Amino acid sequence: MSLTTKIETPSVTYEQPIGLYIDGQWVKGKEGKTFETINPTNEKPIVAVHEAGPDDVDIAVSAARKALNGVWADTLPSARGRMLTKLADLFDEHIDTLAAIESLDNGKALSMAKADVAASSACLRYYGGWADKIHGKVIDTDPETLNYTRHEPIGVCGQIIPWNFPLAMWSWKIGPALATGNTVVLKTAEQTPLSGLYAATLCEKAGIPAGVVNILSGFGKTAGAAIASHMDVDKVAFTGSTAVGRTILQAAAKSNLKKVTLELGGKSPNIVFNDANIEDAISWVNFGIFFNHGQCCCAGSRIYVQEGIYDEFIEKFKARTAKNVVGDPFAKDTFQGPQVSQLQYDRIMAYIKAGKDAGAKVETGGERHGDKGYFIQPTIFSGVSDDMKIMQEEIFGPVCSISKFKTEDEAIKAGNETTYGLAAAVHTTDLNTAIRVSNKLKAGTVWVNNYNLISYQVPFGGFKESGIGRELGKYALANYTQVKSVRMRLGSALF
Ligand code: ADP
Repeated sequence: MSLTTKIETPSVTYEQPIGLYIDGQWVKGKEGKTFETINPTNEKPIVAVHEAGPDDVDIAVSAARKALNGVWADTLPSARGRMLTKLADLFDEHIDTLAAIESLDNGKALSMAKADVAASSACLRYYGGWADKIHGKVIDTDPETLNYTRHEPIGVCGQIIPWNFPLAMWSWKIGPALATGNTVVLKTAEQTPLSGLYAATLCEKAGIPAGVVNILSGFGKTAGAAIASHMDVDKVAFTGSTAVGRTILQAAAKSNLKKVTLELGGKSPNIVFNDANIEDAISWVNFGIFFNHGQCCCAGSRIYVQEGIYDEFIEKFKARTAKNVVGDPFAKDTFQGPQVSQLQYDRIMAYIKAGKDAGAKVETGGERHGDKGYFIQPTIFSGVSDDMKIMQEEIFGPVCSISKFKTEDEAIKAGNETTYGLAAAVHTTDLNTAIRVSNKLKAGTVWVNNYNLISYQVPFGGFKESGIGRELGKYALANYTQVKSVRMRLGSALF
């Protein structure tokens, strides 16, 4: 099997790398295995890619270590910044191909995939700007001592990313890691390996030295677990399910106490008050749950509507949802494509069945869409009680529950009644309500009169069981640096 193959998509034809990208080379896995990635729109294999096992992780970690202590240590911060900026420019230049790969492999609508690529290049460019602005402090203690801090790279960073935003997660991880002088071994999700490999070709073009970025396709239990428990990986950054997040933290604890940052699941509340601009609120609520087919860790899946507008809200929300075009991701008007995989499709359909069996009312949807591909109708449940599975667990699909509330306190209490704490939203025209409620919601992000607005400049991450650490913005730099204090004695001996 060669290491690239020509792939035709409805929008572009391009050359897809299928090897592992280690130490600047395209190679096969040591075990000689490959696995197929499936097109979720037609359920057919797209291509087989080479699979990384633990031995390949070892080789990639050695390459990353060599680069960390060699070429990357000798690269000026400003040069690192220029490489990230160049990489961002290449993302922009290749936007049509990168977006087509995302639509093909993940199933997201092409227009949304283009927005993902643009957001990814913006993120890389932003962190390129930080590369030569990372510095410590001088701390005065007394006239006879000079104290200063250095913000040093943590070292070799293992990064494990999910399939819902393959390129955005790639750039959220690689941008801050490289800006701060680390090297990377990144494992893409087994459902969506293609765009991360293509992006590796752009790393080469951007002049990023061999070994600084290593990209592996592979499975969680093998390659992912090998990264998490590796004795020579200094830090692991993971985005994915809370269950796997726990195993990563355990693996870090049992191996070398590598630093861990986690961005995990959510069951985010979206609260609409009587005084909200109802048309706007409905647009955002619709976007909050059905964007990316509900496959967002911050999806607004629990919708709380105040009693004065409850009936009107449900009718208008159903009408708005009916306008979401579900279908071929490459078709011009599509908003919602297929779920990423058979497994995800089955999980979501099982949740829908659980909701129905528990007696919740299906306001709209609740069935498969069409008869080919992993498409699911946008689904709204009402009459959902707090103890139902669909109210408690993350569904990760186009499924939401609506409940009625009377008072502000009741909405805050219900909103916080979850083990998660990734995001929340408030819709109101009263500034006092907006600020009061935002302050009381236990979530890493609170959106007021919007939903899912994410900026590379603004930190993102979870309270409670939704994660550890923050990505994006200046805050993310702290995940990738460790502080060294240097204390220099200027005067005579003390003892
Ligand atoms: P999902 O259930 O939505 O696929 P996961 O949390 O299982 O989400 O997957 C997110 C990422 O974590 C993927 O790259 C996957 O391969 C990886 N992964 C899954 N299990 C493990 C594991 N035990 N150790 C390390 N990585 C894992």
